[in-house]
Amino acid sequence: MSSDERCEVCGEELDDEICERCLKNLAKEVGSFFEVKERKSTEENYISCRDGTPSWIREMIYEAHSGMLPDDYKYRFVSDAVDIIADVGLGEPYIEADVYTSDLLKWVGSSLTRTGYCDDAIQEYGMDSKTAFTTTLAMGQELEKREVYDMVLNYLKDKIKQQELINHE
Ligand SMILES: [Zn+2]
Repeated sequence: MSSDERCEVCGEELDDEICERCLKNLAKEVGSFFEVKERKSTEENYISCRDGTPSWIREMIYEAHSGMLPDDYKYRFVSDAVDIIADVGLGEPYIEADVYTSDLLKWVGSSLTRTGYCDDAIQEYGMDSKTAFTTTLAMGQELEKREVYDMVLNYLKDKIKQQELINHE
């Protein structure tokens, strides 16, 4: 890679056409639009968007739902993904399933779509009948988290590229 390729915005060297510093900054900015709220009926916390959240961030969240109706887990996974990107940039993300089986059972019980993630995990990771049920749940959830992460990362990368184009004009 040529060292001449530098970010138009901050002057940092580009990594595969993307400025990692601007990517991290954008992720931090996006993260500031999420807030934790408490649902009165269940006293459970959930993640929501603040008033004034830019429409492109709402679109990103919508896309990360992969066709599901607005869903607390999707919001949480998007928010987690944004935090991870703000931290590691283009580096390898640390993504793993919830630790407690009770949390995994809640997750899979929240939507029929999520049994599909477990089915996919069985295929993808080549699990067999000896694989523990809890492992299947964990791998299924990890698959969903990674799917959301990949979507969010691509969305933010595209946003950075668009900004660079605007700066070129
Ligand atoms: Zn930059």
